[in-house]
Amino acid sequence: MVSDPQLLLLSASVAKILGFSREFCSSEHFLRCMAGNELLPGSKPYATRYGGHQFGHWAGQLGDGRAINLGESGKASVDTQNLQLKGAGPTPYSRGADGRAVLRSSVREFLCSEAMHFLGIPSTRALSLVTTGDSVLRDMFYDGNAAEEPGAIVCRVAPSFTRFGHFQLCAMKGELQLLQQLMDFTIASDFPDLHARHKAGEIDRQNLYIAWFAQICQITLTMLLGWMRTGFVHGVLNTDNMSILGLTIDYGPYGWLDHFDPSWTPNTTDATMHRYAFGRQPEIVQWNLYQLANALLPVIGDKEALEKELVRFATHYEQMWRDMMLAKIGLEPLSVEEDDALIAGLMQILTERETDMTIFFRRLAGYEHRRNDITLADIVEDALYDVQAFDALQRQSVNNWASAYSQRLESQAPDKDARKLRMDALNPCFLLRNYLTQEAIERMAEGDFSMLHELHEALQKPYEENPRFARFYKKRPDWARHKAGCSMLSCSS
Ligand code: AMP
Ligand code: MG
Repeated sequence: MVSDPQLLLLSASVAKILGFSREFCSSEHFLRCMAGNELLPGSKPYATRYGGHQFGHWAGQLGDGRAINLGESGKASVDTQNLQLKGAGPTPYSRGADGRAVLRSSVREFLCSEAMHFLGIPSTRALSLVTTGDSVLRDMFYDGNAAEEPGAIVCRVAPSFTRFGHFQLCAMKGELQLLQQLMDFTIASDFPDLHARHKAGEIDRQNLYIAWFAQICQITLTMLLGWMRTGFVHGVLNTDNMSILGLTIDYGPYGWLDHFDPSWTPNTTDATMHRYAFGRQPEIVQWNLYQLANALLPVIGDKEALEKELVRFATHYEQMWRDMMLAKIGLEPLSVEEDDALIAGLMQILTERETDMTIFFRRLAGYEHRRNDITLADIVEDALYDVQAFDALQRQSVNNWASAYSQRLESQAPDKDARKLRMDALNPCFLLRNYLTQEAIERMAEGDFSMLHELHEALQKPYEENPRFARFYKKRPDWARHKAGCSMLSCSS
């Protein structure tokens, strides 16, 4: 039981998916359910065990230590959704921890899962954020200075919360019958099309499993491309944080790139290894898929078929990333050599000086290759963190790239307005940058909740400029460059 639950945030769109009316969501009963003090009708709460590789090493059994599943939503007309309270107290898998969560990390989880959804990136959703009225003891920087912080509970929503680690733990413990049962259950409940093909006799069991793994690779790839398109860094890509449905899950020390730096990670635990840095995510996601394949192998048996899918993942990623980068600059594929050369030039511009990724791509849509009065260098300048560093040499390399780019625009996308529309639909103007969330959290501590609600509103239309939110479309301010909560986040939550 928590002592004084208060509803801080509610996602109207998630409530709608679940068939929860406005009246129900404003009732005391709903609040008490979202705080874990009461149960929704018919709910039989449970927690699950899973394992995982953390930072490249097998970590043994983990599990829903502080996540309590409430069960599936009862509305038959929608795809089934599971509700899960994160921070509602200990479970059999808490391993001595308190099962609670602090407000700052719960705000980050709620806002980011919603932000990802509206960016078009597969993610778990968040229905509600409730403050508990109880405090939680946390050592935020793992430096011996533990402090009491306000506690909170997020209600996460997803068709399934099954992770790679659920399968891994069965395999590692040699529980092969259970492993196969979990595979069959997952396919039947979360991959209904595949299940139907098998039931109809179109594919045998062996091919069903291989087709299933191929589909997991494909949906995971879609999620990864979303991250790479928007500059998202998950921060803790352990195999226990990989959803079997290709959903972004477990929002801890995440962030979006401000200036484009592939080696950047916001996670202080990873500050020396950079294992989970932005640019390494494709390699790490593939490594995680390898671990899943290893876990499934004892049941599937066909090593070569699984390896083929893993190789296909890498080749597909390469192709799709190239096409995605071209689309971000308003172009279509031409030839691999020419496309690669153009993208390499773009990467050089983005990395040579500290250039804000989001502002650069958004501004690029306004480039008019037939006009001489606004050069591409002028556009780049807007996105730079240190305009003084933009010397003649850099200007020259931007201009060189601009002439190759302009030629492509002339042949592939001469209509500037149509191109801008396409580009604006891929390049967000609003990102839930860490410094914004941090500012909202700090204001909230002083009793001002306005920025929290503004961010919640702004993130719902990340591709549409809204003058009301113009102050959110800015580069990371200098004060946030090395500040905890902005560029550096710990796993403490
Ligand atoms: P995370 O780093 O949040 O993905 O957590 C790793 C594992 O530790 C998961 O099994 C969590 O459920 C568990 N865990 C993290 N924090 C807590 C907590 N405060 N109480 C209980 N279990 C936790
Ligand atoms: Mg986790």
